[in-house]
Amino acid sequence: MKGMYQELGISEEVFAYGQRVEEKLQNRFAEIDRRAEYNQLKVIRAMQNHKVSAECFMGSNGYGYNDLGRDTLEEVYADCFRGEAALVRPQITCGTHALALALMSNLRPGDELLSPVGKPYDTLEEVIGIRASKGSLAEYGVSYRQVDLLEDGGFDWDGIREAVNSKTRLVTIQRSKGYQTRPSLSVSKIGKLIAFVKAIKPDVICMVDNCYGEFVEEKEPLEAGADMIVGSLIKNPGGGLAPVGGYIVGKKECVEQAAYRLTSPGLGKEVGASLGVMQSFFQGLFLAPTVVAGALKGAIFAANLYESLGFPVLPNGTEQRHDIIQAVTLQSPEALVAFCEGIQAAAPVDSHVTPEPWAMPGYDDEVIMAAGAFVQGSSIELSADGPLREPYAVYFQGGLTWYHAKFGILMSLQKMYEKGLADV
Ligand SMILES: *Cc1c(COP(=O)(O)O)cnc(C)c1O
Repeated sequence: MKGMYQELGISEEVFAYGQRVEEKLQNRFAEIDRRAEYNQLKVIRAMQNHKVSAECFMGSNGYGYNDLGRDTLEEVYADCFRGEAALVRPQITCGTHALALALMSNLRPGDELLSPVGKPYDTLEEVIGIRASKGSLAEYGVSYRQVDLLEDGGFDWDGIREAVNSKTRLVTIQRSKGYQTRPSLSVSKIGKLIAFVKAIKPDVICMVDNCYGEFVEEKEPLEAGADMIVGSLIKNPGGGLAPVGGYIVGKKECVEQAAYRLTSPGLGKEVGASLGVMQSFFQGLFLAPTVVAGALKGAIFAANLYESLGFPVLPNGTEQRHDIIQAVTLQSPEALVAFCEGIQAAAPVDSHVTPEPWAMPGYDDEVIMAAGAFVQGSSIELSADGPLREPYAVYFQGGLTWYHAKFGILMSLQKMYEKGLADV
């Protein structure tokens, strides 16, 4: 094994350090495997319940009327995530699109949107109109209110009670911290928040941005009282195989609203050709629990490895996980660049290119990104990025297999070690 790693550029010292860290994680890994086993059965049960068959993989073209695969897949998603209905489509281009669709279809002029968990994901600022943008909810007369989390990451119950008013129509709850420093939310915490909001205003729609959270726990947010969950297929539920797509699962009424907005009033879910992607959607969902388990092991390995080297990590090495994202504060631009070079050098695709810091639209500082993915931008595949500014934190996630995640993390350490930025 050591020889194989050496052939790929991992020194004896870095390999040995990694082995020592991994040995201490066997109980954590066993717990992750048990959860993956449970979630695997959940997916298989849903597929059996809805009689998934080879005909489901054929795909349609043109209008896509009577697309058996598409309609069955939506039943499978609804069953698996415990919703009444689902919209799972390649025509939903990304996670932001899925969220925008869910919001724009379920809100009307004069309604108010409330985020009781602080600032939403960056790209949603333009959807909502927090940053002025063409076609935003603000332009359509939908107002927005936000209640920040408390210093300790808890909910501001009083603030939320005051914020809910006669206009409040939809509450958006982001499960994953995304690229913020707040804690990610457990499904049980989300459930308490929803119960609180519904006690104040029972008819409010509670939507959960489920990105990066699918299959991390045994329960999903619809089981904790959410009306709608929304996510991207090039993250967890696509299992690395879905080449594109997004989903909305939940109450029939919410999903129908979204379908009439995605296609057209009057057409809704009846149209939308699935072309050739159905097999990868089904097979990706089938693999997703195992893929998420691999990504989680990678995140926990990295947290423990870098924590023991003296770098601040979030979540820390021992915390329970609620998403697959790991942040490591690397404390210098050189270390951030070396880390990303390592992730890139370990990739199955584009390992020969060197990532460089780059000025990105919408960012004040340069950003460095590492990704050697089969699907462009797929962040269920091993990927890392961070802005070149204090405290030089890198956010990384994914790994289609635990072995690749481990190799990537060892390679990130190797690059830092070679430059004298980490001492193993
Ligand atoms: C990734 C993500 C999004 C947006 O998804 P894209 O596919 O990048 O548009 C929204 N919310 C959260 C929490 C995410 O992680």
